[in-house]
Amino acid sequence: MNIRIGNGYDIHRLVPGRKLILGGICIEYELGLLGHSDADVVLHALSDAIFGALALPNIGVYFPNTDPQNKDLDSGEILSFAKNKLWEQNFAISNLDITIIAETPKLSPFLDKMKASIAEILSISTSQIGIKATTNEGLGDIGKKKAIAALVSVLLVAI
Ligand SMILES: [Zn+2]
Repeated sequence: MNIRIGNGYDIHRLVPGRKLILGGICIEYELGLLGHSDADVVLHALSDAIFGALALPNIGVYFPNTDPQNKDLDSGEILSFAKNKLWEQNFAISNLDITIIAETPKLSPFLDKMKASIAEILSISTSQIGIKATTNEGLGDIGKKKAIAALVSVLLVAI
């Protein structure tokens, strides 16, 4: 069986005056993630995991933050682009495992909604997506509520 594994990591700063977009959904919060696009760390780490599994370059090569066209870009478009890349190479997603590291806000009420949003963008079932949130136990910049990070593992199977 031809299978491919990939992993992705991303982190963005939490700042006032920005919307908090995570896993393709908007979460009501006093801070949001800073970035050239909508700064959705979950979709960025996930896209990079897919690119990595396909031995392709990372997200910054396809969507440079110097390109004005990518300003405030919906990261769902980046993930759709990654999906097309895996379809082009005749792979399908077996499963995803996503970890979000955030001190605040509490993300557990939003995980099912994120799962549904990711399943829709990737045209897969929610049963193929694991998603969990953890804190950084008050340590480092994530623990001081200055940033949110995401880690993603993906397994692809040839079709
Ligand atoms: Zn990013």
